[in-house]
Amino acid sequence: MAAKPILPEALNCLRTIYQRNRHLNAFVCISPEQELKERALAASRRHDTGTPLSPLDGTTFAVKDNICTKDMTTSCSSSMLADFKPEYDSTVVTMLKNSGAIIVGKTNMDEFGMGSYSTTGFHGPVKNPYSPNTSDYSAGGSSGGSAAAVAANLCFGALGSDTGGSVRLPASYCGVVGFKPSYGLLSRRGLVAYANSLDTIGIFTRDVRSAQLVFDCLNQHDPADPSSLDDYLRRKIKKQAIASRPAANRNPVWRIGVPIDYNVAEVSNTLKASWVSVLAALRDLGHCIKPIEIPSTRHAVSSYYMIALAEASSNLAKYDGIEFGPSTITASKPDGSIPPSLHSIAVAREKGFGKEVRRRILLGNYSLTSEAMENYFIHAQKVRRLIKEDFDRVFAAPNPLNSSLKQRSSDDDGIDFLLSPVSISSAPSLSDVVIADGTGVGGYINDVFTVPASMAGLPAISVPVHGNGDLPMGLQITAQYGDEGRLFDIATLVESLS
Ligand code: GLN
Repeated sequence: MAAKPILPEALNCLRTIYQRNRHLNAFVCISPEQELKERALAASRRHDTGTPLSPLDGTTFAVKDNICTKDMTTSCSSSMLADFKPEYDSTVVTMLKNSGAIIVGKTNMDEFGMGSYSTTGFHGPVKNPYSPNTSDYSAGGSSGGSAAAVAANLCFGALGSDTGGSVRLPASYCGVVGFKPSYGLLSRRGLVAYANSLDTIGIFTRDVRSAQLVFDCLNQHDPADPSSLDDYLRRKIKKQAIASRPAANRNPVWRIGVPIDYNVAEVSNTLKASWVSVLAALRDLGHCIKPIEIPSTRHAVSSYYMIALAEASSNLAKYDGIEFGPSTITASKPDGSIPPSLHSIAVAREKGFGKEVRRRILLGNYSLTSEAMENYFIHAQKVRRLIKEDFDRVFAAPNPLNSSLKQRSSDDDGIDFLLSPVSISSAPSLSDVVIADGTGVGGYINDVFTVPASMAGLPAISVPVHGNGDLPMGLQITAQYGDEGRLFDIATLVESLS
């Protein structure tokens, strides 16, 4: 068998990054050539001797710039962390390296993950590789750099983070696969927190089976992450997956729910047409299409922004310009330490954070004040519980996280997956995004289809579909908690239809 050309491929990848990144602005830091060469050579040797570390050995990966890497800065696209070089690799990066993957660089994003178009960071906007010649289009956000890097073939795969849609939305705009796993399956150690109860590491690849390979490599309990799912629950999920697997000689008949609450006027006609045609193709293959209602999801966006911003305001309180950020403080104590003053902290935060982040900190802090807490934050938590209950009501499979596994009275009532658009349209042009930004929170509506799965901690994947225009779009498939195995199966099927 011919040896895998790992070294030439890795070097070619680096060359293409240098050529195309000037325009795309997808990478904010690129790995040194020497290091990349050494890793590629080592992977080549392992392949030659028939001892590859994993199916990912020798593949190239980009990593979003809010995931800690010890040899490269992790800026979160914020001036506050412009020079921040972590002392350790995040667990997911360690796992990738241990599987032989080669990290080619760090990718651009919205500042601290706050945004939907990769325009709020201090590195400037990411450009969609599918942009027509006439103008530049958004790559989506907040993990726009990772999505653009995979779409432009600058690496095999990329890591992003998804708090309310930041992997699925850019994947749909850039025509690649974007996968957000169930909350707690992939370690968050070393992911700079935006909103802890929603943050998940996500995966970008050009096809569904590659996303599954990456997921299988990263899906392990991490004792260093308190929110990482323990081994007992992982075993429970595995058992449930084995029980629901169709017999080897039978093609499964999936029950696919179409959330009628998502059929809103704002969804573009091209996107609706692709949605309908994929549903029709699935029905023709013998799968069962069911209209379903998940009424609480109408309140998902407003409650998501309450919870995410409240958590963000608390997470970002640590950036005070003393340990991190622009040094605005001149007077230091004789021992070299710096006395914090409210004024110097305020100046550092004013300088270090961009406009959108400051707006969100203010909103988040307000929702946690004693006069607003009951009306906003607590209310949003109640809506979050309703969203989880609504999903548990429609899925045939029980939620393995519920202690009493209440079985449905009749399995026939339930569905296996939800199929919906990822967003209301294909990528907007960057000039339209800049105009819309002036109107403040208006852009938050674009997260309407992605935040429900985030609020319930469910796995969801964006699969590219090509409409009749130049720009790609994505369909989202959502499954019950821990049902990743079957989710990848149906996503592969949908991928083959579009
Ligand atoms: N657009 C959403 C927000 O700004 C989601 C971002 C994300 O998932 N990181 O909060």
